[in-house]
Amino acid sequence: MLAADVAIVGAGPAGSVAALNLAPFHRVLLIDRQAVPPMRIGESLPGAARRLLADMGLWDGFLTDGHAPCHALSGAWGAAEPVERDMLTDPDGHGWHLDRARFDRRLRAVAAARGATLLVPARPRAIQRSDGGWHLTIEHEGQTQAVEAKMLIDAGGRLSRLLQPHGAERQTRDRLICGWLRFAQSGMPPGITRIEAEAEGWWYAAALPNAGSILAFHTDADLPAARSARSAAALLARVRGLPVLGPLLNAGTWAGATAGFCAAHSARLACPAGDGWLAIGDAALAFDPLASQGLFNALYTGLAAAEAADRHLSGDATALPDYAATLRPVAETYDAHLAAWYGVERRWPEQPFWRRRLGAGLECERPPRTHDAVTPGMRRMTE
Ligand SMILES: Cc1cc2nc3c(=O)[nH]c(=O)nc-3n(C[C@H](O)[C@H](O)[C@H](O)COP(=O)(O)OP(=O)(O)OC[C@H]3O[C@@H](n4cnc5c(N)ncnc54)[C@H](O)[C@@H]3O)c2cc1C
Repeated sequence: MLAADVAIVGAGPAGSVAALNLAPFHRVLLIDRQAVPPMRIGESLPGAARRLLADMGLWDGFLTDGHAPCHALSGAWGAAEPVERDMLTDPDGHGWHLDRARFDRRLRAVAAARGATLLVPARPRAIQRSDGGWHLTIEHEGQTQAVEAKMLIDAGGRLSRLLQPHGAERQTRDRLICGWLRFAQSGMPPGITRIEAEAEGWWYAAALPNAGSILAFHTDADLPAARSARSAAALLARVRGLPVLGPLLNAGTWAGATAGFCAAHSARLACPAGDGWLAIGDAALAFDPLASQGLFNALYTGLAAAEAADRHLSGDATALPDYAATLRPVAETYDAHLAAWYGVERRWPEQPFWRRRLGAGLECERPPRTHDAVTPGMRRMTE
């Protein structure tokens, strides 16, 4: 039997950050089904993250990991002509294109170095309330391991259903999916994020720190375009027809692509805290990738949850409700900004992808200036 003050399920950025902040003071068990963080999409980190990383003692290590600075955003959004925004104008400075697997690995390693017990590859098979806490049955390397914990944190990401039987009501807000291609080499210029809208969705493209590039198409799962998101050849054929990304692609070397497909919908818990539990990162509030705020939110909620858990374990009955209240304005601001950004793009109002986003509460009364349309990816949605 393993005993912990806090059991955290999910050692992605949110879970690791909660663990590394709690571990110096409490017994923390960090559980993940992946032995090592895999390569995954999601690598734009806004400049504002520097303050959080510095506050948690992570900044110096971050700088040694070879992440690439991102100095500009270029968006063909709301008009065919791309608009570029230099991050020199951003008070938080430039953002980053992460080596994502390395970023996730470092956070896990710091959590372990600060005293968290890492249980990988492992996953809970059963979760029950017990006197004064939780009883988890964990499958770990083919064995069953019993765990008693005073508190449980769900850091299982966008698709997590971990705490549903215990009152966590999950609300899925759209059907966005993403098909992506990762290239070992390319002619994509470094230091710039590109976004381009098209009739059935939108694209993201960026050079990665290790000379590779990422190209991603976002559309709704039920639209015909979703078929092209599932095939590397169809993705390439589709992107070649785009006015901005098409010519860029034709100039590059795009051999040996790795392809992937994933959910990218907005989702949230009706309430991210309950009796003896908290949810953090995507498990609490999953953002549309257009926002590029998921990692910032993972760092922020991981830190906020660590503070709330520490207070809760010291007997403060208001700690968990306070945490839930902190996330409410984040969700509201995100909704307003997302509606505003999608509201800028009015070239295909008859297309279902855009019609859905211009109606049903996503319409905004006063869309941002078109020039701002290049900035959604790097503005903090919490501002
Ligand atoms: C297409 C796409 C593009 C994105 N682009 C960006 C971007 O440019 N910038 C940005 O900031 N964000 C981006 N994001 C979002 C970002 O990737 C997430 O917000 C971030 O990964 C959230 O971190 P997390 O720790 O909450 O969850 P995750 O990173 O999803 O980690 C969850 C962890 O939980 C583990 N897990 C899940 N269930 C279980 C279980 N039952 N048992 C054990 N382990 C479990 C998983 O293995 C995983 O390690 C993007 C997302 C998508 C889909």
